[in-house]
Amino acid sequence: MKTIGLIGGMSWESTAHYYQRINALVAARMGGLHSARLLMWSVDFAGIARLQHAGDWDAAGRVLADAAHRLEHAGAEGLLICANTMHRVAPAVEAAVRIPVLHLADITAHALLADGHRSAALLGTSFTMAQTFYRERLERHGLSISVPKPEEQDVLHHIIFDELVKGRVEAASRERFMQIMRGMHAAGAQAVILGCTEFDMLLRAGDVPDIPRVDTTELHCQAAVDWMLAKGPGEK
Ligand code: GLU
Repeated sequence: MKTIGLIGGMSWESTAHYYQRINALVAARMGGLHSARLLMWSVDFAGIARLQHAGDWDAAGRVLADAAHRLEHAGAEGLLICANTMHRVAPAVEAAVRIPVLHLADITAHALLADGHRSAALLGTSFTMAQTFYRERLERHGLSISVPKPEEQDVLHHIIFDELVKGRVEAASRERFMQIMRGMHAAGAQAVILGCTEFDMLLRAGDVPDIPRVDTTELHCQAAVDWMLAKGPGEK
């Protein structure tokens, strides 16, 4: 089994879920008392959120590159950036290390295409929806990507930063989120991308409309475990 390094804390609510899911998947795949070989560097999210909102992506990239460097030196053989938004600085992270970064937008695109989808709605933070770094990476795979209108983007951003990253799941926000999902699907998106690693907290809280969707947290954990357990050439 290879050792995965998690750059987490963005937020710790979702990183805790990554830790739990990666271990559960390894245990299910390997059986017995097996559990995941992993390292984690968990940032103080207050500083990251401040840099995001100030638009200082270079400084945010330096913080994550430093985390990546530490994980590599501690023995990680591959890395996950445990947030969609912070893939904004994936190039800085990749440049800081010699080990691979399992890019969440590529994993998401592969899952959508495997499910037969050609178009999808991207829901996430305002940064993820309004900027091009994530959308264009998905579109490179031949997908057509739509995003909610600006006032709906504000609603989603508020739900993430004022509630989910603080561990709060509000019924009214959940309902608003489902409305936005339904609206995007009705407008033609074949599937919805839960493009924020905290969104599954809303889904776990109750029934969800029967709309095709991909959950980036779950996909990232599955891809990590596939990668950790893949046999190298000549290995049995
Ligand atoms: N976890 C988040 C994401 O997947 C949002 C927090 C952040 O802005 O980093 O985008």
